[in-house]
Amino acid sequence: MITAENKKEYYQALIDKNTEYEGVFYVGVKTTGVFCRPTCPARKPKIENCEFYETAQQALLASFRPCKRCRPLSHPNQVSELVQLLVEAVEANPEKRWKDRDFQELSVNASTARRQFEKRFGMTFIEYARARRMGLAMKLIRGGEAVIEAQLSTGYESSSGFRDAFSRIMGAAPALLGERKILKASWLDTKLGPMIAIADNETLYLVEFVDRRGLEREVERLRQKLKSAIIPGSTQPIRSIEHELNQYFDGKLSEFKTPLCFLGSPFQKHVWEELKKIPYGETRSYSDLAKAIGKPSAFRAVAQANGANQLAIVIPCHRVINTDGELGGYGGGLIRKKWLINLEKRSLK
Ligand SMILES: [Zn+2]
Repeated sequence: MITAENKKEYYQALIDKNTEYEGVFYVGVKTTGVFCRPTCPARKPKIENCEFYETAQQALLASFRPCKRCRPLSHPNQVSELVQLLVEAVEANPEKRWKDRDFQELSVNASTARRQFEKRFGMTFIEYARARRMGLAMKLIRGGEAVIEAQLSTGYESSSGFRDAFSRIMGAAPALLGERKILKASWLDTKLGPMIAIADNETLYLVEFVDRRGLEREVERLRQKLKSAIIPGSTQPIRSIEHELNQYFDGKLSEFKTPLCFLGSPFQKHVWEELKKIPYGETRSYSDLAKAIGKPSAFRAVAQANGANQLAIVIPCHRVINTDGELGGYGGGLIRKKWLINLEKRSLK
């Protein structure tokens, strides 16, 4: 988690081109749309134009592209030509969805690419390409309705990768929606990192951390189930959840009132209803939960339903841990799970 203090420290390191901070943070520069490593030789931005990230993936998801001068994806040591080739291939076509045959076209072995990327960046090449693509769509969502309107009036239809990336992830280009149901999506900056919220005028369908594993698939499932398209914007349930989450993160709210829609199988819905009953500040094990729904042997299915939750924090799947007291899994990452459990325990006192 990057605090206000970290921010000052990182900015100083950036000014000093301090090599000790290589790999500790990346900086996104709002005025240019690129992200850099701390020692970038380019002229340093003003602090108000900097956003700091702990991983390259987070910077990509926030819609920054890698700087051509400091090549944030090729440090600290020189990367192989293979990795460089792949990064460049993504930049040439950032909205593309990569398949195995695309590697063949580049004469690259898919599993070598996977291994080298993972070793270097802690994510596979496919995850890298997805983060870059998601980032493009997220850029429009972050900008909100005004950005879409501006793009429409300045020939959005002909603008590069944006439309493709956006429609591949969110369902359709805004101008082509026609009769379909429309959901709105907003970017929420929270203490625990950026989240995305999707709702119509009545209920909230999804709220997730932007870097959650599998978010793109979740969004796709949501679109297909509701036969809908998603455009940037806000609705009453989004404004409500944003307000409630802020209060929650400050330890001032223990129960959410924003209207929710559970989109899942009857079994999943049953599990989610039961999850909502776990009191603030307490935890349960997967087998406790299985017993509570009257299916004590189904704890694996329960764990899966837990993982399929699309309403992070609001349906408190972070309150479910392993029987032995270990944290278990969490789609938003274990650091966040731990933080949430601690927040609730602290706030109860
Ligand atoms: Zn740079």
